[in-house]
Amino acid sequence: MQQLLDRLAADAPRCFGEGKVASYIPALAEVEPDRFGIAVCHADGSVQCAGDATTRFSIQSISKAHALALAMRELSPEEIWRRVGREPSGQAFNSIVQLEVENGVPRNPFINAGALMVTEMLVSQLFMPQQTIREHVRRLSATPSVDFDETVARSEMDHKAHNAALAYLMQAYGNIRNDVEVVLDAYFHSCSLAMSCVELARSFAFLANHGVSPFDGQAVLSPVQTRQMNALLLTCGLYDAAGDFAWRVGLPGKSGVGGGIIAILPRRMCICVWSPRLDSYGNSIAGRHALEGLVEGLNVTPLG
Ligand code: GLN
Repeated sequence: MQQLLDRLAADAPRCFGEGKVASYIPALAEVEPDRFGIAVCHADGSVQCAGDATTRFSIQSISKAHALALAMRELSPEEIWRRVGREPSGQAFNSIVQLEVENGVPRNPFINAGALMVTEMLVSQLFMPQQTIREHVRRLSATPSVDFDETVARSEMDHKAHNAALAYLMQAYGNIRNDVEVVLDAYFHSCSLAMSCVELARSFAFLANHGVSPFDGQAVLSPVQTRQMNALLLTCGLYDAAGDFAWRVGLPGKSGVGGGIIAILPRRMCICVWSPRLDSYGNSIAGRHALEGLVEGLNVTPLG
């Protein structure tokens, strides 16, 4: 395993010429583009890694999976799935087009509109939503020092127009009931969490362990909820590139425009890769290549 990770890290610079780092906010545009890290957290909680696996980066949309897991713990399935769908969108992560056609109900929880809806539910349900989201991720990763990057969160708020448009449209349909600015602030803070590959791989290890955290032995989700989460990650985790990712890698996954991707090999491990240069869908190019190499190197065919 360690040899494989070292080889993937050594091969990653081949992808460094391609793609661009996210530039919609200055805080992300300044990230050094030619970095690569990979970490594997096994179902027993042990970790192996290579490259820049302990460097923290902006987790961005990977936070959508943390948020959904928290919502699945806190709210009934009826309440959640009445207000957000479970179908792949086939559209860009921040697309607004389906919202109007589908009466303000987002296609799935892993596009921006869907994550804003999940955040809306958490804001209604929790006493201190932002702090609770941070506590949840600290607990999942067993890393008490995980924190928001306030510069990123502020920068997102300064460039909020697109996400605000999504949220206000959902409010117009009566599907967002809280103050939109409060929902946006909680969503941007979740996206701004700074974590390393090691910390992110640890935070989703429960999805490779029947829903049980290997760090405290407690169930985060039930086995059925874990299967449901992994199904959604497989079909919707990489937006309109989910089909291609399933074709190439064949694992449930979630990407973020910070250049991170997490992937789950059920019952065995969670993998996190990071490399900031993105393709046109907003997914890490070197990260996806490395995951293809990992699946090939391990010779695993979960869908085969
Ligand atoms: N903060 C980003 C946004 O809301 C997250 C998008 C992403 O990582 N795909 O647009």
